[in-house]
Amino acid sequence: MSTDPRAANESSGPILRVAVAAPLLGTFDYWPPLAPCGTDAVPPRAGWVPGVRVLVPFGRSRRVGVLLELATTTEQDPTSLKHIERVLDPQPLLAAVDLVLIRWAADYYCQPLGEALFTALPVRLRRPRALDLEQERGVAATAAGRVLDLAELRRAPKQRALLTVIRAAGSGIGRAELTRQLGSCQPALRHLRARGLIEDCSIVPGVPAAATGVRAAPADAGPDLNPHQVEVVNQVTQAFGQFRSFLLEGVTGSGKTEVYIRLIQAAAARGEQTLLIVPEIGLTPQLRQQLAARLPFAPAVLHSGISDGERERTWHQVAAGRSEILLGTRSAIFTPLPRLGLILVDEEHDTSLKQQDGFRYSARDVAVRRAQLVGCPVVLGSATPALETLHNAQLGRYGWLRLPVRAGAAAPPRIALLDIRNQPLQAGLSGVLRESMRGEIASGNQVLLFLNRRGYAPVLTCHACGWVGECLHCDARLTLHLARRRLWCHHCGWFQPLPRACPSCGDADLRMLGQGTERLDDELRALFPATAIARLDRDTTRRQGELARLLEAVRRGEVQILLGTQMLAKGHDFPRVTLVGILDLDQSLYASDFRAPERTAQLIVQVTGRAGRAERPGRVVLQTRHPEHPLLQSLLRDGYAGFAAAALAERQEAELPPFSHLALLRAEAPMPEVPMAFLMSARTHAEVLREPDVHLWGPIPAPMERRAARYRAQLLVQSPRRGPLRRLLAGWTRALHALPRPRGLRWSLDIDPQDMS
Ligand code: ADP
Ligand code: ZN
Ligand code: ZN
Repeated sequence: MSTDPRAANESSGPILRVAVAAPLLGTFDYWPPLAPCGTDAVPPRAGWVPGVRVLVPFGRSRRVGVLLELATTTEQDPTSLKHIERVLDPQPLLAAVDLVLIRWAADYYCQPLGEALFTALPVRLRRPRALDLEQERGVAATAAGRVLDLAELRRAPKQRALLTVIRAAGSGIGRAELTRQLGSCQPALRHLRARGLIEDCSIVPGVPAAATGVRAAPADAGPDLNPHQVEVVNQVTQAFGQFRSFLLEGVTGSGKTEVYIRLIQAAAARGEQTLLIVPEIGLTPQLRQQLAARLPFAPAVLHSGISDGERERTWHQVAAGRSEILLGTRSAIFTPLPRLGLILVDEEHDTSLKQQDGFRYSARDVAVRRAQLVGCPVVLGSATPALETLHNAQLGRYGWLRLPVRAGAAAPPRIALLDIRNQPLQAGLSGVLRESMRGEIASGNQVLLFLNRRGYAPVLTCHACGWVGECLHCDARLTLHLARRRLWCHHCGWFQPLPRACPSCGDADLRMLGQGTERLDDELRALFPATAIARLDRDTTRRQGELARLLEAVRRGEVQILLGTQMLAKGHDFPRVTLVGILDLDQSLYASDFRAPERTAQLIVQVTGRAGRAERPGRVVLQTRHPEHPLLQSLLRDGYAGFAAAALAERQEAELPPFSHLALLRAEAPMPEVPMAFLMSARTHAEVLREPDVHLWGPIPAPMERRAARYRAQLLVQSPRRGPLRRLLAGWTRALHALPRPRGLRWSLDIDPQDMS
């Protein structure tokens, strides 16, 4: 009998601790790989570096995992440990600091580490294949080489020509290609290498040089910054090299993008990479063009809309430090950046920054943690900051930077409430709004109409018996889509053909109630027959490239009336728009989610900000049947800041975030009793843990109890203090994973939930 069964055995080598790609808590220990059969050779220890992927036996199958650390003892029974089958990568894919970040995120969001790790890696690396990037020998500019003033090489024209071409290639250029462009150049290459301006690298054929390259043409210098912008740039650049969080609160059109560009340049001049996170892929083409027009290097781009192969190549290029800037959506926050010196999160209030399924993390909050680990500044930018972020700025945890005026000559739009009670509406538009529209169109301006509901009508009902079209699988009404002759569920995607007569009583008098964008579009064409109208919603932009085409037509002035859903509120600028009509937000004023007022205020301000830039001032008309509503009143009187102050006071009163912290346990199953029973027993386990100051609310059925044929329920955990909540969650997560799981039950834990439905 061994005296200490948990200690590793010298002859077998260390214990390798691995996170496996599986939804299981904890890590798993293995012995090193066995020597190849029939040899005594010890496998090369040099390959056992944390951050490499490994192939491991797991139950009756094999899984890909990531090596986390080498250990000398194990909590598992050492006699049961298996050997790693093989190491998959010659070098670690994740650096130590990346592993620390991902381990923190898995812990904070109560997620299995393996799931978190493989969220951070390109999806193809979940499979046990080695990096099969065919590689060729090449050279790339070093950090010093990228920022060197080329004038310093004026006495060495060959070196200068070489460095220019190598810099232009960005991610590296093959030897063969260099020789093809410049002829034989060995001595000059040797000199540049000796001076530390270039280094050898492997290059991946097929990465288009334009995707990464430094363009030969000098970039546009951009406008002179106004004093507010100068102050913001100074504050952030002074924080370079250390951790500091900033809220950049800048009204729409105040020149935030311009500030980002200057900061990216300043970071690059220090030889540091910038990570720029945006909420939506729809925003990346425009921003990408802006960056490309102004920076001497094009950004690497990562989002879910690009192919797995391209994503993997870009990931490697960035991780190898061969791109000055990575522009990406949510999941890009985990991409390794060896020279990271600045993190920017644009539209930080946007809910798309929070993943709503699987690994439910907030890219904004992970960004702050990452900046802290790396020791660099992070800037959270928005015209309508999240109340959480504002609160952090008010407490002094975040530096508070403001751009209070529009850049250049643009004047802020004026907002007017329009009481539509007892008003005759045509196409949902009051007489006042219709007249204003005619005036603007006659003067050659554009009008934007915002209606946050797609489809033709939200309700189809029978006038004879009161039947209403409802989804078979959800507690929800079906939306009428007239052009496609469907009744469609916007929650589960189920649809049925449009009935000719009432399915209940057979009467033919079916009526469409309410108005969606499709109907508005139709009715506007009757009201404004000679006017070019464009509709922008998920139905009209489904086809690839259609959104870009519509935006371009608007930009060129080929469209006089632009109507659409909240897609209009997101980042796009419409400089020729002088009138914005907000048609119907009344429902969202009274929604049950405690964040509804915040979202509504953000939407109004964001839509408003799209209008009237540069020399054309904008006007906003907000139609409502509740002109006395306190949200609308505070917004009109004191702008977003006034609204936010009032909303924060309400949150404090109600002990809601940011004055308390929430975790939401959701469960769902085909039978209604099952999720409730699961949550009841989860509640019992939480009570046993007895953390003071932690309150449990529920379980209760979800606001929409039945969705996609599953019954849903939730249990809310709330605490005014983060500490006790975190302690409870640590023990509770383990208990939840150990709970028996009835057939068909799915559960998930959402930390800092943004959407309570
Ligand atoms: P935001 O991102 O805050 O909405 P942008 O950065 O897009 O604002 O700037 C809005 C407009 O103002 C753009 O057309 C931009 O070129 C212009 N702009 C930005 N800064 C300046 C400046 N200092 N002087 C003149 N125009 C500017
Ligand atoms: Zn009927
Ligand atoms: Zn449905």
